[in-house]
This record gives sequence, C-alpha cells and structure tokens, in this order.
Amino acid sequence: MKTARFILGDQLNYQHSWYNDTNDEVVYFMAEMRQETDYVKHHIQKVVAFFKSMRSFAEWLESEQHEVVYYTLDDEKNQQDLVANLKQVIKEHKIEKFEYQLPDEYRLDEQLNAFCDELTIETEAFDTEHFLTSRTDFTDFFEGKKQMVMEYFYRNMRKKYDIMMLNDKNPEGGKWNFDQSNRKKWKGAPEIPIEKQVKNDVSSICKMIENAGVETIGNITINKFHWPTTREACLDVLNYFCKNLLVHFGDFQDAMHTDEQYLFHSRLSFAMNSKMLHPMEVIETVISYWRNHQEAIAISQVEGFVRQILGWREYMRGMYWKEMPNYRTLNALNNTNSLPDFFWTGNTKMNCLKHAISQSLDTAYAHHIQRLMITGNFMLLTQMHPDAVDEWYLGIYIDAIEWVEITNTRGMSQFADGGLVATKPYVSSGSYINKMSNYCKDCVYKVSKKETEDACPFNSLYWNFLDEKREHFKDNQRMNMMMSLLNKMDATKLEALKNRAQAVIANPDNY
Ligand code: FAD
Ligand code: SF4
Repeated sequence: MKTARFILGDQLNYQHSWYNDTNDEVVYFMAEMRQETDYVKHHIQKVVAFFKSMRSFAEWLESEQHEVVYYTLDDEKNQQDLVANLKQVIKEHKIEKFEYQLPDEYRLDEQLNAFCDELTIETEAFDTEHFLTSRTDFTDFFEGKKQMVMEYFYRNMRKKYDIMMLNDKNPEGGKWNFDQSNRKKWKGAPEIPIEKQVKNDVSSICKMIENAGVETIGNITINKFHWPTTREACLDVLNYFCKNLLVHFGDFQDAMHTDEQYLFHSRLSFAMNSKMLHPMEVIETVISYWRNHQEAIAISQVEGFVRQILGWREYMRGMYWKEMPNYRTLNALNNTNSLPDFFWTGNTKMNCLKHAISQSLDTAYAHHIQRLMITGNFMLLTQMHPDAVDEWYLGIYIDAIEWVEITNTRGMSQFADGGLVATKPYVSSGSYINKMSNYCKDCVYKVSKKETEDACPFNSLYWNFLDEKREHFKDNQRMNMMMSLLNKMDATKLEALKNRAQAVIANPDNY
C-alpha cells in the first residue's frame, strides 16, 4: 500500500523503528514551513538549527535508501501550511495510507487529528519512541495524590529504569538527591573549557530565511554557529560534556558569571528536544563515563544531571499533556503588565538582566538559573502577563518547544499555574543574584541598598510583590517565613520600598 510518513522538525529520531527497513511503497515527507516559522517570532539561530538538522536528517534517510520528499522553505511547491502540503503530497504520490508520529505540541496534535478525521484514506499515528514515559503515565502516577511532587516522580523513574540504584529500593550513594551540594558560586576557577565547536555551513539557509522575509529575533554569526545539527555532532557534544564538564556540572549548576555563558552546562537540550539524541542514551553515556572515572567525578555531579533529564524533563512533558489545553490560559496571580523593550535589546542598566538577555540574543541560550532567577524572576516581580512571558521564552531559546517551555515558564517560573509545578514562587531579591554571580559587582545599582534611587530594583520589587500578592500566599506554608517578615516590617519602610518598586514597574525601561 503506497504510504506517506510525515516527520515533523522536532521528530529527528535516527533510531526510530520506522527506519529499520526500506520499503518502495513508503515515502517520507518533511517540510520547512511558514506555519512553523511564524506562529511565534523565533530566534534566528533556532530557525537555522531546526532547518539545518531537518536537512541533515533527510540526507541521512536518503543515504539509507529511503524515498524522501523534502520541501525547503523556498520550494515552489511549498504551500507553507501543513495541511495544504500534506494534501498535495498525498495527491501527487497517489498515497493510500497516511502515517505520522504523535506530535509533542498540542497545537500540532490538534491539527493532525483534524486532518486525519477529514481524510478518506487509512491513517495511523505512531509513538516517537523518544520519551521515557507515555503521554498519560504522569497522570496515572499522580492519580489520587494531592500534589504532583517532582521528587516522587523522579524516584519512581529511578526505580522503574534501575538508574543509579543499589537495589530495588535504595539509591546509590545513600541519597536520592544531592541538590544541596550544587550551590557553588564560580569565582574564576576551576577553568571552564570552551564550548564544543561544531562545524556548520549555514550561510545558504540564513540567506533563504532572510530572502523569505521571515521575522526573527536575536543575532547569528555565520562562522560561529556551534549548535549540533547532525546526530554525529550531537554525540560529539555529549562526549565532550562527559570528558570536560561533568566533573563540575553539579557544583556550579546554579552559578552565573559575566564572562561565562555556559559554565559546566551540557548544551544538549536542542539535541534532545529535536530527538537527535535519546534521553536514555544521554543518561547511560554519562553514567557509564562516571563509572569509569569514579575516582575523579563525585556522584553529586552525576545525580544532578540525571535528575534534570530523568526527572524534570519527563515530569514537564507529563504535566503538559495532563493540563493542556487549559494550561496555556492560566494566570493564577492575575498579572497583566507588558514586557519592557529591553527584553528585545538587552539595553538596561541592571547588569544581571543586561547579561542574561544580551547573551540570549547572541546565542539563543541561557542556562536554567539565568532563565529562572534573572529574567523569570524580574518578569514575575514586575507582574508581567504570562502570555507575554511565554511568547518571549518560546521565541528566544534554541530548545524552546511548547511542551517544555510553557511548563517551565508559566509553571516553574511564573507560578501562573497556582503551584502545580512549583510549590512556591521562584522570586528573590538581589542578594540571591549576588550570592550566585558576579553580576552585582559592576552594576550601576547597589545590591546592599533597598529603597534609594541607586538601590538594586530587585530588592524593592521583591517586597512589593509579596505585599501585593499576600492573598495568594497566605495559606502557602513554604511562604510562611517570608510572609511573617513582611508582616513585621515597619510600615514606613514598606511604603518606601513600594514606592521604589512602583516606579520600576511603571517604567522598567528607565532602569
Ligand atoms: P543542562 O543544565 O546541561 O541540563 C541537562 C538537561 O536537562 C537539559 O538539556 C534539559 O534537557 C534537561 N533539563 C534541565 N532542566 C530542565 C527543566 N527544568 N525542564 C526540562 N528539562 C530540563 N528547557 C527546554 O528544553 N526548553 C525550553 O523551552 C525551556 N524553557 C525554560 C524556561 C524557563 C523560564 C526555565 C526556568 C527553564 C526552561 N528550560 C527549558 C529548562 C532549562 O533551563 C533548559 O533545559 C536548560 O537550560 C538547557 O540547557 P542545557 O542543555 O545546557 O542544560
Ligand atoms: Fe541585578 Fe541588582 Fe545585582 Fe544590579 S545589583 S546586577 S540589578 S541583582
């Protein structure tokens, strides 16, 4: 039966069982489309990375003797719309059966479902064979539980997959979680190896995107585009991480520094989210490297890394499928403000934000704590609308795909889901930023000051936020200590802090 198999840009799973056999009756279809470049304004490097990786994947399929129909963005035949393109391919190739892999984004899932409902030929959806949990495992696991605590989910995953376990019940190293050891500030040592340099020729893709008039954000330097876009390059980045960065990954996971964008982070999120690397192969490679180098690498570095992938990544995906589509409308704290312009330019005197945003515009990357405790923290403290916040995060990062972006942004960072992901809001004054980075050293504002003109804006914003959102946190036990400090605060002092905070909120671009 003549069959079309459709592959989305984030379904580049080289190990999928679809490709085990060749079949003359099967044609694979892939397309670069305006539908995908335009649903949000993406970083230029993100568009380039996806198109380049899709092309490498299509080339590989062809080299494996599969028949491939590939529409580049500038292909005359390209209708730029998923449904229109699929109809065209089905007609042109006299397709009798349509097959696809289950999308990870709700929007595409709906679109493909509706498309299949309309078709008169046979259709079949396949698993992407990528995740370690199904769409519904998360819901089943938390059935009947009051709170969906990540730690329990993670422990269950460790047991289920027998990862770093002594026996059925007990974790290796005597603890499930070594988070407490992962809190060091980086002060110039140990030396951080330069990020893995990946060779890519992206000049023609960049030209094509420019000629097509696709609106993008951020910057790209053609000969400095180092994101991996082939499976081989992804494996190189993974091996580079094991050899050079794993040894200090956990220690400096939360650290930030003006001169170092990546510190000891793996830069593997794009490789995994595009599915070029399987999460289990990443986990197993890292653990195997550690087992061969146990005298040099502490368990805390490895457990911290495994937790992010086996725990947080799968947890976020489960939460997404459990809570969508409602999740994308949640705004539990009723925040309504707009993003200041400096989020698109990096042009602010607040040194932490200037660095985190400029770096994001230049590299399409910021590590977790920069996203959570610098940009996300400021957005929450200034009470920006979660829609605007989501749009920014979904556009700017190389790894931003809705299932993992929205749960991190609306959930973990903005508390817009009312505490489904995070048990308390991730907000802080300047002192946390000063503790974990060198940003404050050269800042115009003084981190030690609170309400004066030269005071760090985060300090007043923090107390203003707690005061304005009192009602939301009055029953949250994890907020008890901060709320009781707020309640004991001298009224005149609080008023001065609030005045300062309101001035920042009214005109963030002035700061
Ligand atoms: P490392 O620090 O080396 O961690 C290893 C891997 O663990 C990552 O590659 C990633 O796959 C996984 N991981 C770590 N933290 C998380 C997490 N919280 N949720 C899911 N997986 C995690 N991650 C995305 O992949 N896409 C996003 O769009 C995204 N948006 C985010 C938005 C906000 C506001 C926040 C706070 C976090 C977001 N994250 C997102 C999670 C995390 O910041 C990135 O996965 C990480 O920075 C990617 O860099 P890395 O590969 O060097 O990660
Ligand atoms: Fe950021 Fe405040 Fe530190 Fe400046 S002083 S870098 S604004 S935390």
